[in-house]
Amino acid sequence: MTPTELHTLVRGWWEEMRDTARAATPGPWAVFDANEGTSSPAGWMVANDAFHNPSGDDAPWIAVEIHTGGVEDADHIAAFDPSFAIAACEAALERLDRHKPLMADTRRPRCWYSGDEWRWPCVEFLSDAAPFRTRPDFPEELSRDRT
Ligand SMILES: [Zn+2]
Repeated sequence: MTPTELHTLVRGWWEEMRDTARAATPGPWAVFDANEGTSSPAGWMVANDAFHNPSGDDAPWIAVEIHTGGVEDADHIAAFDPSFAIAACEAALERLDRHKPLMADTRRPRCWYSGDEWRWPCVEFLSDAAPFRTRPDFPEELSRDRT
């Protein structure tokens, strides 16, 4: 794969993650015990405000309801709500735009942001590619072991 193709591939993965978060039920999401006030053990749920305060009219109300066995899992899911995920993806996309390949069609591509001192792929680009390393289409060229 060429440097430009590698950059486009990783950028596309982050765009896909951002678009998935944008399509999800908006946050903020919060954790609550669905069994509170009963003799049942805690039943952790994650939901947005619309779950607790439906509009009451016939219009469909947006809500999310996720059941999980552990409060730590619920805390994690709520913390990574769509607004956080969108912001994290946009930060990665901005970073990727700074760390694009310069002289991409040569044998010695350089990082656009870091200039001649850094070959491409630079460590910043590889860090932004790393979360996708379990994907079956993750290219060997992006493995940190090769740098
Ligand atoms: Zn760079």
